[in-house]
Amino acid sequence: MNLSTPLSQVPRVGPVYQKRLQNLGITTVRDLLFHFPRSYEDFSIITPIKNIQEGSTYCATGKLLDIQQKTTYKKRFSVTEALLQDDSGAIKIVWFQQPYLADSLKTGDQVCVAGKVIRDKDGIYFSSPAFEKIRPVIRPGAPSNDGAKSSRYEFTHVGRIIPTYAETAGVSSRWLRSIIKMVLASLKDITDSLPEDIIKTKKLPALSQALWQIHFPDSMQEAQGAQKRFAFEELLFISLFVLSERKKIASVKAPPIPLNTELMKRFTGKLPFTLTAAQKKSAWSILKDLENPRPMNRMLQGDVGSGKTVVAAMAALSVVKAGYQVAFMAPTEILVQQHFKTMGPLLAPFKVTIGLLTGKTDRFSSPKLPNDFIEISRAKLLEKTKKGDIDILIGTHTLIQDKVKFGNLAFVILDEQHRFGVKQRAKLLHRTKLIPHLLSMSATPIPRTLAMTIYGDLDLSLIDELPQGRKKIETKIVTPQERTQTYAFIKKEVAKGKQVFVICPRIEKSEIRNPKSETSELKNVKEEYEKLSRDIFPKLRVGMLHGKMAQKEKEEVMRKFKFKKIDVLVSTSVVEVGVDIPNATVMMIEGADRFGLAQLHQFRGRVGRSDTQSYCFLFAESNSTGTHQRLRALLEFDSGFALAERDLKLRGPGDFAGTKQWGLPDFAMEQLTNLALVQEARTAAQEIIEKDITLQRYPLLKVRVQELREQLHLE
Ligand code: ADP
Ligand code: MG
Repeated sequence: MNLSTPLSQVPRVGPVYQKRLQNLGITTVRDLLFHFPRSYEDFSIITPIKNIQEGSTYCATGKLLDIQQKTTYKKRFSVTEALLQDDSGAIKIVWFQQPYLADSLKTGDQVCVAGKVIRDKDGIYFSSPAFEKIRPVIRPGAPSNDGAKSSRYEFTHVGRIIPTYAETAGVSSRWLRSIIKMVLASLKDITDSLPEDIIKTKKLPALSQALWQIHFPDSMQEAQGAQKRFAFEELLFISLFVLSERKKIASVKAPPIPLNTELMKRFTGKLPFTLTAAQKKSAWSILKDLENPRPMNRMLQGDVGSGKTVVAAMAALSVVKAGYQVAFMAPTEILVQQHFKTMGPLLAPFKVTIGLLTGKTDRFSSPKLPNDFIEISRAKLLEKTKKGDIDILIGTHTLIQDKVKFGNLAFVILDEQHRFGVKQRAKLLHRTKLIPHLLSMSATPIPRTLAMTIYGDLDLSLIDELPQGRKKIETKIVTPQERTQTYAFIKKEVAKGKQVFVICPRIEKSEIRNPKSETSELKNVKEEYEKLSRDIFPKLRVGMLHGKMAQKEKEEVMRKFKFKKIDVLVSTSVVEVGVDIPNATVMMIEGADRFGLAQLHQFRGRVGRSDTQSYCFLFAESNSTGTHQRLRALLEFDSGFALAERDLKLRGPGDFAGTKQWGLPDFAMEQLTNLALVQEARTAAQEIIEKDITLQRYPLLKVRVQELREQLHLE
């Protein structure tokens, strides 16, 4: 038996259990042993029976006196009763609904029991405790290097620190303990995936010892030592992966883009505003990166509204004027449209041709007609792109489809996305030898620990200030009583020529309703649109937007909103990221508790995009304190960075900024916020990579790094 042995070859795990274990994602010995305990219960202290009191858990040993099996007739309930006696006294034990017990336990048996002690009218008793018979101590062939030092080695469920596992129907912690212990005992040599020198210098337990101590710890310190080892190991794999990725990128060629300062000056000179210092600094780093004959791999972080698009446009212009093409990807159709319309006028003076690749209506903008777009068939657009006649092609993920071929692509921009794999990047290239430069942009801030781990292969630029004159968005949690007042306020804003977003969690009334869990129906766009346009704002122009509308319709609505033909836009989360309507000043969010903090911050970022005072109103469905505490964080912090740190603290990394795609086990996920451990792992990885970039001498590490690579790039 070794770690990759399938469960079907493990004794005592028949087809039924194999199937059940699949629910826990366990199919091999490795999976089973890496199904770590969720918690522990310390039953390592044996209490003399006379000292036992009601209300706590205890572990006691003694002789079973008088074991009896009873059935209460009324309830057909089985009860097994016994008396446990040690040198100090005796206590009753009651097991409920375990009729088979009487077959295995006999009066006179020496047992150890562990569980809760409670009281009824007749006195105190152990209530359905875990138990084990005490057998004459023989340790048949227990390997000396098994890592378990305890003299109570023979106990599994009592008399020691007991692991509790995530369970599934038909698989109890008790069962898992027995099987895991059996498997651990029969594994002779487990090759350690960590190199020996690291184990030594870091004073970590070796693999087999760590496995024993994480499941059957001799002390909580031993358990923590084992947990640390496994977390360190995962962080080391990540660090090795990102560092080798970094080296790999640095070893391939990209087209160098000369920095044309005069051109950049002309571009900024034509802007209706001056760039902030942070924008200038980021643009400079990007333009400097582009000069290198090595591919840039940079992420531009900046809070919502900080002006990332114009920085990207500068870099794009630079690349186009050097004679290359740019691919600009955004996550939604709405955003793609918006970028097309923003980039057109920004770059028209420089005679840049921009293509728009969307669902059915493809088009491109001719430099001569910056605000007019020429419709074009997909085939024509693809042909022009291939010939190099389109300078910048904007689209969603359709841009990396095989059909799209660029003549001479040199630069890929990803808006609101965190990462782009080497494979995806390569896909954009086809026959080109050179690897394009890559710039990803995100409003989601990357906390320091994540920047050192899962984003460790990227260079980061930060726009840490908003354009001048922006006012703090007034954010308010609104009670149901204040609803009318809020509508009146909205009318006033519209009278001033301003525009309003109303966000609802759903598109339409939900078909399936759970009458128990939902007292009030969640607000939906369709009904809310009806209600607002007919009853609340009959004199205002109300529009509706959601993901199920046809693309043409969506575009038309966004166009009308942009050109102030709509006052109030009722929408789903389709406008969550990126949408830029500087004239909108009110963001009203229904069912705000349905959204995460980062998402709410994004919504709020749709307003406050000019120097006019803007407002964000949060309506919550639930009244729970947890909800309000979370929403209050929005009142407390205006910066996405502060909110993200808070979110990370409140919820752990969860799916923070694309952490999920790394497929990390929970225990390692938690350690992603542990700065000291992250630093340690990174240093260790650096040392390894310095000595041996191809990991020749570390075949096991190499396998794991390869696994990570596949997981990330094949998704
Ligand atoms: P985000 O960083 O959220 O993508 P955008 O690039 O959409 O932000 O910019 C938000 C708004 O701010 C846009 O209307 C843009 O024209 C404007 N803007 C960008 N930079 C500046 C600046 N330096 N001064 C004033 N307004 C700016
Ligand atoms: Mg943006």
